[in-house]
Amino acid sequence: MNNIAIDINNLSKKYKNTLAVKNINFKINKGSIIGLLGPNGCGKSTTIGMMLGLIKPSSGNVIIHNQNIEYNRTDLLQKMNFISPYIELPKKLTIEENLQVFGRMYGIQNLKEKIIEIMEKLNLIDLKKRKTGELSSGQKNRVSLAKALINDPEILLLDEPTASLDPDVGDYVRSVIENFASNNKKTILIASHNMNEVERLCSEVMMMKNGEIIDRGKSKDLIIKHGRENLEEVFLKIVREKNEIL
Ligand code: ADP
Ligand code: MG
Repeated sequence: MNNIAIDINNLSKKYKNTLAVKNINFKINKGSIIGLLGPNGCGKSTTIGMMLGLIKPSSGNVIIHNQNIEYNRTDLLQKMNFISPYIELPKKLTIEENLQVFGRMYGIQNLKEKIIEIMEKLNLIDLKKRKTGELSSGQKNRVSLAKALINDPEILLLDEPTASLDPDVGDYVRSVIENFASNNKKTILIASHNMNEVERLCSEVMMMKNGEIIDRGKSKDLIIKHGRENLEEVFLKIVREKNEIL
């Protein structure tokens, strides 16, 4: 067995008139946490959607644990989980019911205990009888993370996990992700706009722009390479640079 969890090969996605993802290639080793940084519309969610087998690539493929996600989705999704804007939790179900549904989908043993444990971890116990559709965005976000961790996934794909959170809840959610990652050998991809989040959680960052991965490295190496003070400045430099330079 090799040490590669995720292997993306010449992956492209063309919507009607938009080439959203342009022939990208990257590998993620088992047990590493990688950030995917890039401006709105650069193709992050489309990439993650294809990695989950939710969006069909126009060309190229996504290999997870040596299997093509397109043909092995059911098997692979058992050991994966995600937060994605493409999938919303059923609004009419309570938090507890939602976790029961997803827990059964993943065939979780001792589901009752698992749900209590995860609700405690994410501070959801007092809210468990509330309908998901009636929660604040911060509360919904914590439920999404609870759902994402319910099967103790080996591979976790997080599409902007703290996007709508205030700094306090954002920090809390980051701690939960950090804990999850450090207690286990997990492979995690985090698409984010939050530089602190990426610097804190990720061993490496991929920079995406106009559907392409244009750089990759450790935060501190990218900062030196681009001659900037911090990751946010690197991001701004890359975003503002004229396309022909890249
Ligand atoms: P990001 O997550 O980085 O903000 P997306 O992957 O959502 O970027 O979008 C990449 C590009 O693809 C954007 O130009 C967006 O408008 C376009 N796009 C995304 N989803 C669709 C869709 N279902 N149909 C048509 N165009 C889409
Ligand atoms: Mg997105």
